[in-house]
Amino acid sequence: MDLQLKGKVVIVTGGSEGIGEGITRSLASEGAIPVIASRAVAASEQLVAELQDAGIPALFIGGDLSEPGRCHTVVEQTARRFGSIYGVVNNAGINDAIGLEKGGPDGFRSSLDKNLYHYYGLVHFALPYLKESRGAIVNISSKVALTGQGNTSGYAAAKGAQLALTREWAAELLPYGIRVNAVLPAEVMTPLYETWLKTAFKDPEAKKKEITARIPLEKRMTTKEEIADMVAFLLSPRSGHTTGQWVVVDGGYVHLDRSIT
Ligand code: NAP
Repeated sequence: MDLQLKGKVVIVTGGSEGIGEGITRSLASEGAIPVIASRAVAASEQLVAELQDAGIPALFIGGDLSEPGRCHTVVEQTARRFGSIYGVVNNAGINDAIGLEKGGPDGFRSSLDKNLYHYYGLVHFALPYLKESRGAIVNISSKVALTGQGNTSGYAAAKGAQLALTREWAAELLPYGIRVNAVLPAEVMTPLYETWLKTAFKDPEAKKKEITARIPLEKRMTTKEEIADMVAFLLSPRSGHTTGQWVVVDGGYVHLDRSIT
C-alpha cells in the first residue's frame, strides 16, 4: 500500500529515540520528510545524518520542548526550511513518577510541563500550516490513561488529557479536514521503559518476564516499529475517514479477557 506521504513534512517530537525513532524511520521509508524536535542531541544528529545520506532531507531542531517558546521555534524553523507542514506527531514524554505522596503540587505542575503543554503548543503554532495542507495529527498517549499505574499522577493526568484533546481537536478541526488521532502503547522496550524497569523494581528481568507472560498476543512486547507503522497509517491520506480515535496497539494487553492469560 502506498501511504501517499511522499514529500510531506512531519514534525516528530522526541523523534530520535525509542518509539519516536521508529516513527521517524517509518515515515522516512514512506518518502515523508521527518523533522525531529528533541533534546537528545547526539541521537538526533546521528539519525538525521543517516537519513540525509540516504537522500531524505530530514531536519533536527534541538532543545527541551517544555521550555517556553520552544514549540514556536520548532514550527518557525520547520516552515522556514520547507515552507509547509503536513503532520505533527506529539510523542516526547517521560513517566516521571510524580505520585500523590512524592512530588507535591510543584512536581505535578512540572510533570504537566514535560508531558502535556508542548502537545498543545506545537499544534497551536503549526495550525496555520496544517490548515493549508489539510494535514493530520497523532498524539502518543499511553495505556496508563486507561488503566492507571500508581505513583505517577502527573504522567497519568497528561496521558488522559492527551486523549481528551484528541477528541476535542478532532471536533474543532473538522471544518479544515484535519484529522486527529491517538495511539496508545502499553509495553514497548525503549530507553524510557528500560529506565522504568531498572528504577522501579529490584529484579528488572523478572518483572519484564512477568509482564510479557501476560500479553495475550504472542506473549511479547510490542515493537516500536509496530507502533510507528500505525502512526504512519493514521497520518496518511489512506486513513482519510478516521478521526478522533484512540488506537490501542498492545497485543490485546488492556482489553482482552483476563481469563486468557
Ligand atoms: P524514550 O525512550 O525516553 O524516548 C523519548 C525521546 O523524547 C527521548 O529522546 C527524549 O530525550 C525525548 N524527550 C522527552 N521529553 C522531551 C522534551 N521535553 N523535549 C525534547 N525531547 C524530549 O520514550 P519512549 O518510551 O519512546 O516514549 C515515547 C512516548 O510513548 C511517550 O509519550 C510515552 O509516554 C509513550 N509511551 C511509551 C510506552 C513504552 O512502553 N515505551 C508505553 C506507553 C506510552 P531524553 O533521552 O533526553 O529524555
